[in-house]
Amino acid sequence: MKPDEQCCLGVESTADDFGVGIATFKGDILANASSGYVPEEGGIHPREAARHHAEAADKVLAEALSTAGVKTKDLKLIAFAQGPGLGPCLRTGATVARALASYLDIPLVGVNHSVAHIEIGRLQTGAVDPVTLYVSGGNTLVSAFDAARYRIFGETLDIALGNCLDVFAREAGLKHKKGMPLGAALERLAADGEKLVSLPYVVKGMDISLSGLLTAATTLLHKDEYRLEDLSYSLQEHAFAMVTEVTERALAHTEKHEVLLTGGVAANKRLQEMLRSVAEEHDTKFNVVPRQFATDNGAMIAWTGVLAYTHGLATPVKESFVKLRWRLDKVDVPWIK
Ligand code: AMP
Ligand code: MG
Repeated sequence: MKPDEQCCLGVESTADDFGVGIATFKGDILANASSGYVPEEGGIHPREAARHHAEAADKVLAEALSTAGVKTKDLKLIAFAQGPGLGPCLRTGATVARALASYLDIPLVGVNHSVAHIEIGRLQTGAVDPVTLYVSGGNTLVSAFDAARYRIFGETLDIALGNCLDVFAREAGLKHKKGMPLGAALERLAADGEKLVSLPYVVKGMDISLSGLLTAATTLLHKDEYRLEDLSYSLQEHAFAMVTEVTERALAHTEKHEVLLTGGVAANKRLQEMLRSVAEEHDTKFNVVPRQFATDNGAMIAWTGVLAYTHGLATPVKESFVKLRWRLDKVDVPWIK
């Protein structure tokens, strides 16, 4: 870090990842450390994940500070993911952030996790005013900025895209390993798919529903009629086509000139390919967040904290309660005019 440069430390803890990132006020990411909770069995258990976060916090904090070459006394701001997310996990990150801000006597700012996924995507790709497809383990949103807020043009009516892939992968016996999320393991299998099996395709207005697709794919899986590669491929093709269709319609409606793909599922090459082809058909620029910033991370919280704080927002400790269902379209974003 250059002398006199101001920087913000951001804490992410909404679900299975505990992340600490450090960003300068100019938008350089100095560190992005994280530790992921891997359930022994099944999906995320909120209290187990929160326990992981509490145990990992000091190590991840130390790693971020050492990578950035920053001393705590040099920090100007602490940001944390205030929501949406799992209660116990959010509260653990908020406690770490409050303690740091109080001890260092510097301002605290609560950040919306979904806004942060969009902002890190804009920062890293240079996209200015995109239609964003944000797809992760817990969220599936098509959004674009309009009249002071990121508006939601379409979303899932039931489960999130990442969750749909993860549940199917677990049913197929795949195991979540460090460095290989279930969605990525499924992507590998899908690459060897040859036969497209017909599955439910549910788009209602601008929203999608994935639970019928998941049930149908899982039922076929247990009947052992098709190769797992073919079912993985078919699941991906149907689910990705649904989110791509809604993104395309948002693009046509808003007449924006850029598309941004962000969130953990953004790492998927087939989804990138589908969205890129739609963007090109509309003569718009396709942007995808780099892989290290796709999944939940502290850097996106730090950077969004900088944007918020430098535009007059801060969160006094007594107002820093977590917001489990804090929707994207309820957040003021004064840094965009
Ligand atoms: P996040 O919730 O943003 O931390 O992202 C985690 C989600 O992204 C999980 O559902 C993962 O299975 C999913 N994911 C990660 N990599 C891939 C990939 N290559 N293809 C599909 N999904 C992925
Ligand atoms: Mg995660």
